[in-house]
Amino acid sequence: MPQAIEQVQFMTHSAPKKVNLLGMDLAHLKAFFTEIGEKPFRAVQVLKWIHQFGVDDFSQMTNVSQLLRERLSDIAEIRAPEIIKEQKASDGTTKWLMRLDGGNSIETVFIPEDNRGTLCISSQVGCALDCGFCSTAKQGFNRNLSSAEIIAQLWVARRMLNERIPEDEQGVVHNPQNESRRAITNVVLMGMGEPLLNFDNVVQAVHLMVEDNAYGLSKRRVTISTAGVVPALKRLREECDVSLALSLHAPNNAIRDSIVPLNKKYPIKELLEACRYYFSGDTKKKQFTIEYVMLAGVNDSLQNARELAALLRRLPCKINLIPFNPFEQSAFSSSKMQTIKQFRDILQKAGYIVMIRKTRGEDIDAACGQLAGKVKDKSRRKH
Ligand code: SF4
Repeated sequence: MPQAIEQVQFMTHSAPKKVNLLGMDLAHLKAFFTEIGEKPFRAVQVLKWIHQFGVDDFSQMTNVSQLLRERLSDIAEIRAPEIIKEQKASDGTTKWLMRLDGGNSIETVFIPEDNRGTLCISSQVGCALDCGFCSTAKQGFNRNLSSAEIIAQLWVARRMLNERIPEDEQGVVHNPQNESRRAITNVVLMGMGEPLLNFDNVVQAVHLMVEDNAYGLSKRRVTISTAGVVPALKRLREECDVSLALSLHAPNNAIRDSIVPLNKKYPIKELLEACRYYFSGDTKKKQFTIEYVMLAGVNDSLQNARELAALLRRLPCKINLIPFNPFEQSAFSSSKMQTIKQFRDILQKAGYIVMIRKTRGEDIDAACGQLAGKVKDKSRRKH
């Protein structure tokens, strides 16, 4: 049953809790309007107001009747988490700490580059997967984010970056989807959490990212990063096949078992088969990236590079080598840059497109694997 209907039924039988429309994709919003006896086309109007124009007040929705605006104010709301801290790094990277209901908080990072701006968002409070090299893992796990809390990170960031420009001085309304006016051109779900373990909420938020009446991003510009939840990958292809970043980090099961515990459940062979299925058919609309964190003495030998080249043969991927960002309590150190370059050269000679990721936002702990937020009750990992 769509969330909208569940919530409206809840409202009619007990306390008048308002429905938050922020996280509803087009299908859920249509179901909501049908449920309250309105025409489904209202969903498109309201979706544009919320996501294209960044409006959180029904009274500003001028093409919606006064009567309906008043009714919506009574039964619904558009509510995002509150920003409690903003930090700017010397390289322009910005990190926001956002407070959620229940005392938890999450971190969202904006990384500006010459030709694009990438927003890195979170999908869970903490993470249950316990990868050995990850700072988020040390925070433990508390809960999944709702679809509203996930899409709110994009909604809030656009407001903070003044991307919302509904009209100029002459009152002419511009299309906020216009590429040249966008600060955020790409979204990656690489913040706190494993997105595919919060499947329904992540998919609903991603629907909004690629929806023409909301953010209108192309599938190439929205990337879900996963440690490899195999059954969810198969489902994702059917429901929302955006770009994928696979946190592989090892060329064989022995090494991967030791740094990505999920590998014991879904070993490399099974995982790469699921990726092949995900990218079978039309691959041009979405990108496949292999993420590989460079850990000194663990996975960075030249033999490991040759093994990786052989492992990925015939997969339509590019490879990101990530210098490890140390944090307190971490047992690893980063490979030397010379080692990383030798590793890259072997992969390039084997025909792969390989990038060494630039570390961004290091001075505010906003680099890859450093997002922490604040996790209340860290003991829920087993759940
Ligand atoms: S690397 Fe990703 S999947 Fe692994 S613990 Fe960290 S957030 Fe979770």
